[in-house]
Amino acid sequence: MSRIEMHPSRWGNPAGATDLPASTRGLVDFAFGARDTPARDDVELPASRLAAEHLAALAALLGEEHVIVADDVRRIRTRGKSTPDLLRAREGDLSDAPDAVLRPADHDQVAAVLDYAAEHHLAVVPFGGGTAVTGGLAAARDGFAAVLSLDLCRMQALREVDTVSMTAVLEPGLRGPEAEALLAEHGLMLGHYPQSFEYATIGGFAATRSSGQSSAGYGRFDAMVVGLTVATPCGTLELGTSPANAAGPDLRQLFLGSEGAFGVITAVRVRVKRLPEVKVYEAWQWDSFAAGSEAMRRLAQDGLLPTVIRLSDENETALNLASQSDVGGESSGGCLMIVGHEGTPAQVDVRRRLVTEALTGLGGTALGEERGAAWAEGRFHAPYLRDSLLDVGVLVETLETATFWADREELYARVSEALTTTLGEKALVLCHISHVYETGCSLYFTVAAPQAEDPLAQWLEAKAAASQAMVDAGATITHHHAVGTDHKPWFGQEIGPIGASILRAVKADLDPSGILNPGVMIP
Ligand SMILES: Cc1cc2nc3c(=O)[nH]c(=O)nc-3n(C[C@H](O)[C@H](O)[C@H](O)COP(=O)(O)OP(=O)(O)OC[C@H]3O[C@@H](n4cnc5c(N)ncnc54)[C@H](O)[C@@H]3O)c2cc1C
Repeated sequence: MSRIEMHPSRWGNPAGATDLPASTRGLVDFAFGARDTPARDDVELPASRLAAEHLAALAALLGEEHVIVADDVRRIRTRGKSTPDLLRAREGDLSDAPDAVLRPADHDQVAAVLDYAAEHHLAVVPFGGGTAVTGGLAAARDGFAAVLSLDLCRMQALREVDTVSMTAVLEPGLRGPEAEALLAEHGLMLGHYPQSFEYATIGGFAATRSSGQSSAGYGRFDAMVVGLTVATPCGTLELGTSPANAAGPDLRQLFLGSEGAFGVITAVRVRVKRLPEVKVYEAWQWDSFAAGSEAMRRLAQDGLLPTVIRLSDENETALNLASQSDVGGESSGGCLMIVGHEGTPAQVDVRRRLVTEALTGLGGTALGEERGAAWAEGRFHAPYLRDSLLDVGVLVETLETATFWADREELYARVSEALTTTLGEKALVLCHISHVYETGCSLYFTVAAPQAEDPLAQWLEAKAAASQAMVDAGATITHHHAVGTDHKPWFGQEIGPIGASILRAVKADLDPSGILNPGVMIP
């Protein structure tokens, strides 16, 4: 399959980059005093440090054309797509560029690369879609002869479909739309739609324990995984031989969320669903964030969750819908909820009726399908807007956390305060509840502020304050973005010294020479 490569210092399809519409630019000028901050795309990469003898040996394993040291290929595999990643790339800091990009064809080639890398002390960074937002692709280089980006893009097959058990085996390099297209040929789907869906991969979803916009209905990615094949420097593991078992601790959980530090996921057996015949998305209005989130809690605890449910706070609602009169805007206030139902006509009918009754009874006002459809249509476009805002001197970034229902309000207040205190009074702090469970929910914050002289330092200070606020509130440092390198200090506080020691012991056992994604995830 031929595929579009992402822009090295922007999100997504390079052809998708647009200037801010004049009206938005005007608003940004008014609110933040915008100024042009062009990116430096002309900076040369550090030369590859991969010695000729390793280049030749790796080429013998994979084929010459699949061991690449060309700058344009290495440039796109330098870090991920967080705002700090983009700021560093825009400033011309390419110091994390890999020394070579390797493209194995199958599990055996991955295993052969790991053997060679372990023997010669070359660091290996598994690379899926490159959409990481917590520094999971910025491995430590110290002490390694070279850093190899192990790009799984050639492993993009649907290997097996079992329509009796409703499982499928997918290769790790398949991007979201590619996996769904292959499954759709069998009338099946996965139903995993993170905002990075268009570029992120099956292996990346598993390695970061990703969550999607339809996770209320179809579950988080880790809940979809039935089995895994993993290559490690010590050998291969095949995990997940039955729908459920009591055979000791579940070893799949060691690799789900392991971010390339324990092994390379080379196949994922997922449970699949039949393609929905009907999809309906609608909007609801709530008087306040508290009222809307209380309604979400009730739906989750009464077993009435729809396929999609998300709730914007007052600020996010006002910003998204400022031009519309019935919800949002300073005059009317209110909070917008998106609710989506998918399934057969009968399933959607029944569930929609029950959910509508419940939400109406809890004080919600139905706003109809138009706005729900608009959300579904535009849901993958927001990351392009981030680039356009960075271009005009606005700092934009997101962060997320999760806690129990009883602690939601305190967490919201603490993180909001940490962000506004560090970013200043002009900063906009927006939030939505992105995922809900019987016991709690995830809060997803978006911030926008005028860029300081050093926007990277400005963001790192705000992010550190927000991260500490999460941990101090007893919440998690990440509900779905993973740990990477950026969250490690707070992850260490979250799991404590014994937790960290367990992870180090597993790493030492599976990867004794420490070549797999060094410095990532393990505190
Ligand atoms: C604009 C934007 C929106 C996003 N929205 C969401 C969202 O809605 N929900 C969400 O959960 N996340 C989201 N993310 C974060 C990111 O997309 C997810 O973490 C995603 O799962 C990463 O997948 P990837 O294929 O791009 O992995 P990569 O970025 O390539 O890698 C991520 C990590 O996993 C490791 N890895 C990758 N493949 C393998 C493998 N086969 N074996 C072992 N390790 C591997 C890498 O070494 C790295 O540490 C978003 C990111 C961006 C930029």
